[in-house]
Amino acid sequence: MIMNDLLRKAMEFEFLSAEEGIFLFENTPLAELMYVADELRKKQVPHNKVTWQIDRNVNTTNVCIANCKFCNFYRIPGHTEAYITDIETYKKKIEETIKYGGDQLLLQGGHHPELGLAFLCKFI
Ligand code: SF4
Repeated sequence: MIMNDLLRKAMEFEFLSAEEGIFLFENTPLAELMYVADELRKKQVPHNKVTWQIDRNVNTTNVCIANCKFCNFYRIPGHTEAYITDIETYKKKIEETIKYGGDQLLLQGGHHPELGLAFLCKFI
């Protein structure tokens, strides 16, 4: 594959195959990828207006039974470092998020075998 041909395809909004995307990821200098990404942004977002959103990820629990091989976050049920985030902690983290201009909260957590939908709905 020729890198410049793939970058040109991307610049023209042509579909890249997974293999082509992986090739670019593995072979293209970061500065070139950044340049192409910026050029595409300019084409897609008129008026050269760049925005962002400040948000925060809050973990509901680190207890999980999914056992994903890559994960260094989870603890098995009963582990001494296992936790379930309580409402006071949520309030503190929400207040901190708002203080720093955040306006979105993302709740993520492990697959705790004893926490069902009813538990999570308590926070709504
Ligand atoms: S916390 Fe998420 S990534 Fe980690 S083992 Fe559980 S499901 Fe997998």
